[in-house]
Amino acid sequence: MTSSSHRIWPLKGGVHPDFHKEESNQQAIATAPLPDKLIVPIRQHIGELGELVVQVNDYVYKGQILTTQPEGLGSLTHAPTSGTIIDIGRYPIPHASGFSCPGVILKPDGKEDWGEHRLSPHSNHLSADKNQLLEQLYQAGLVGLGGAAFPSMVKISTADKSTIKTLIINAAECEPYITCDDMLMRESADELIQGILILIQLLQPEQCLIGIEENKPEAIAAMQSALTTANNNVIKLVTIPSIYPSGDEKQLIQILTGIAIPKSTLSFDYGILCHNIATVHSIYNAVVKGEPLISRTVTITGSGVKHPQNFKVLIGTPFHHLITTAGGYTEKAERLLMGGPMMGFSMQTDEVPVVKATNCILALSEAELPYSLTMAMPCIRCGKCAEVCPVDLLPQQLYWHARAEDLEKVQQHKLFDCIECGCCSYVCPSNIPLVSYYRHAKGAVRANAEKLQKTDQARERHEYREFRLQREKDERKAKLAKHKAALQKKKAAMAAAKANGNNKQNAVSDVIKAAMERTKAKKAAAQQQAKQSQPRNTDNLTVAQQQQIDQADARRSASTKQNTETDNK
Ligand code: SF4
Ligand code: SF4
Repeated sequence: MTSSSHRIWPLKGGVHPDFHKEESNQQAIATAPLPDKLIVPIRQHIGELGELVVQVNDYVYKGQILTTQPEGLGSLTHAPTSGTIIDIGRYPIPHASGFSCPGVILKPDGKEDWGEHRLSPHSNHLSADKNQLLEQLYQAGLVGLGGAAFPSMVKISTADKSTIKTLIINAAECEPYITCDDMLMRESADELIQGILILIQLLQPEQCLIGIEENKPEAIAAMQSALTTANNNVIKLVTIPSIYPSGDEKQLIQILTGIAIPKSTLSFDYGILCHNIATVHSIYNAVVKGEPLISRTVTITGSGVKHPQNFKVLIGTPFHHLITTAGGYTEKAERLLMGGPMMGFSMQTDEVPVVKATNCILALSEAELPYSLTMAMPCIRCGKCAEVCPVDLLPQQLYWHARAEDLEKVQQHKLFDCIECGCCSYVCPSNIPLVSYYRHAKGAVRANAEKLQKTDQARERHEYREFRLQREKDERKAKLAKHKAALQKKKAAMAAAKANGNNKQNAVSDVIKAAMERTKAKKAAAQQQAKQSQPRNTDNLTVAQQQQIDQADARRSASTKQNTETDNK
């Protein structure tokens, strides 16, 4: 469907800089030659990092996964080509912070050998299972290529749970000098439409709007032709006015739908999901070709480069290799930026690698920059900065408070609503690099919050230590009391046992005594018996006397027998 049938809303504020697009969009996208080495950082996305699973001297295949799966929000990193890992360490990355990041140095062998590491392509991708598609996107390490590098699979699977009514494809490419999306649309429109159809299969939106700035007529024609071939009436191609920053996600949503997404609110909440057109191409490559995100299109441009052009570049390719491929530097190359002149940031060295978020490498003279610290003059309170701010801020007020490092006031003036588009700096007649002050202030607020958090954590740690020490003290005290009680109990038991023992001893003595008495009595009885059993002279006794004597003997004999039985018992 054409743009004429879709209403658009005007962008508030914005500027019309000289776009410098024709400098790099006059030649087809070329494939950059393999460099001597690739520097592959594992931090190329928002979220958690996996751990490296390769070692120095390991041979790796093209597309081989180099890290473990990150916990939670994160993305996988792959070897961009086959070769040998020659070093593991921390290397500078192209980031506003200037930080370094863990990664590997890969020496290519020139074979481009995938081994078994290409993902299984989905030949019938438009009827593939949703979960399989999502898993494929995760295994491909896809992130948003518009600059934020948010893991695509997370974005899509989160959106899948809510109802997405409108899918927006951001093909505005409003930043001056950058033409990689423009060239991609001119050359790969059919693949891009297939990629969009995969997203439609996953999200089932009611409508899909592709927003392209009107200064890309060739790209618009190519996309329109591919769309006609696809014959899908959910997708609408919408041309929008060329005004910066129409390509900012929230600004584009407003232009295409009229909905202003408030700060701290997600577009999901409004049933809208936005993807960059280059991300759509990486979705196509992952699902249909089975290729993980190991390369992307990068614009090498600016007056500081001899032959500006777009290149298909392996992730990890050093900037200087691409500058050389584009003919080398000119005498105007005073500043090197990643990104465009409005939102890009300066590089201190060209020894940094292309990462997933690198869309442009720009070499310019100082004078060509839209704003510069060295040429700043005092503010004349003209108010032009407020007129162009697309998010309705008061840039001049923000500037004063940021300059005074009044972190409370800058936050009151909605510092974090600033999208850092640089429009205010661009129009400032005093050449004040306003956006640099805001970036600095944001950094200071974050650092302050981090410091406060650390102080809170230190206090909590101290309080917990005090609590732990007291608890241990109480536990020791309780243990001691328990020990004492047990000891006393034991003593009492011993005393009782002793008393019991004495009683038993007395009883034993009594038994022994009784036995001795009986033995004595027995002995006496035996002597008596012996005396009486002496032969008697019975010759002169009468019969009666003799009977009396026999009866007495019988009684004694019975008595003795009884005593003996008692003793035996
Ligand atoms: S545009 Fe520049 S000079 Fe004018 S008010 Fe804003 S900061 Fe001041
Ligand atoms: S940089 Fe921030 S303050 Fe300046 S115009 Fe853009 S959004 Fe407004």
